[in-house]
Amino acid sequence: MSMQNYLGKDTPKLGFGLMRLPTLPGGTDRDIDIELVKKMVDLFLERGYTYFDTAFMYHGGMSEEALRQAVVERYPRDRYTVTDKMPLWDIKGREDYENIFQTQLKRTGLEYFDYYFLHGIGEGSLETLDKTGGWDYMKELKERGLVKHIGFSFHSPAACLDKILAAHPEVELVQLQLNYVDWESESVQSRLCYETCQKYNVPITIMEPIRGGSLAAMHPDAQKILKDYAPDKTPAYWALRFCASLNRLIACLSGMSTLEQVEENTRVMKDMEPLSEADRAVLDQVVKKLDSLPTIPCTGCKYCTTNCPKEIPTPGIIHQLNEYTKYQNLTGAKRSYGMMTGRGGKASDCVGCKSCEEHCPQHLPITELLKKAADLFEG
Ligand code: SF4
Ligand code: SF4
Repeated sequence: MSMQNYLGKDTPKLGFGLMRLPTLPGGTDRDIDIELVKKMVDLFLERGYTYFDTAFMYHGGMSEEALRQAVVERYPRDRYTVTDKMPLWDIKGREDYENIFQTQLKRTGLEYFDYYFLHGIGEGSLETLDKTGGWDYMKELKERGLVKHIGFSFHSPAACLDKILAAHPEVELVQLQLNYVDWESESVQSRLCYETCQKYNVPITIMEPIRGGSLAAMHPDAQKILKDYAPDKTPAYWALRFCASLNRLIACLSGMSTLEQVEENTRVMKDMEPLSEADRAVLDQVVKKLDSLPTIPCTGCKYCTTNCPKEIPTPGIIHQLNEYTKYQNLTGAKRSYGMMTGRGGKASDCVGCKSCEEHCPQHLPITELLKKAADLFEG
């Protein structure tokens, strides 16, 4: 671990992501179980952690409200730090930025944010940011004392990250998608993005170190490798420890939904040691095992979607079937499936015309796969 001084060096390394809070039985995503959240927050703070992460969009705006009720109205301001994020969807100019920011201050009950991010930027958002004065607005918020540090959360390839950091030395931190399974992934590029931040000396926060719960619930063959190596450690422990071993880390965020998860994560993150060479070799074996599991060989070319009368997002659905094979995280797969098909194009909408199968270069039995997906994810 780096001995260098950097922003957030002394922050306890587990952050509480407020994007998957518990909801009331039978309620929607907006009906947060605030009494349970208060208990989770109490335990998190009591164990010495401080970092909370929310965003304008989480829980349809209710995550920010929950932060106010569970944290801001119950604890002194010096007990915690908060990150909030500016969405870039539908932004047309400065007035939109200011309206959203003022709404965030109101919802959270805060007078300032410790860290403030442009939410989920990538190649596609750079033009919007330039046109709407997004970078200037961020600098202005800092000058007005309304945010202490500025950064962004990032979901694109490392080359784009390099371009942004070269052009924007005002960026003080970046939130990355990072975990040991996606370390060498061509699409997520965890390692390359991490190395890019190191190159610019920019500290990081990590979203989804347990990959939305997937690395806590992997295929039994992969879990067995970890259990054989260290019987008293859980798969979630290894996912967190991998991230905790990285340089210039401010905090690993975990989107916690239960008191048990807060209990486990706060316990395992205490006094976390960096990984040894032997530990790394075991994690490599886990990744190899996951890669060797029989998955559907879809290349993501999207030819199947061109003429689909029901606009079914087949490549994304197949990806979730593969995720389920590897991680057996049905809750996570259902959540991703629900987001993908929330506005239509469910697997069960398929009318069996087989236009997709005619165009699939991999000759995949798409209609059968969609039936399987409907059974698994729509139940
Ligand atoms: S068979 Fe189903 S998925 Fe394929 S093109 Fe027809 S409706 Fe779409
Ligand atoms: S056409 Fe076949 S290989 Fe290409 S994305 Fe669709 S299912 Fe996957």
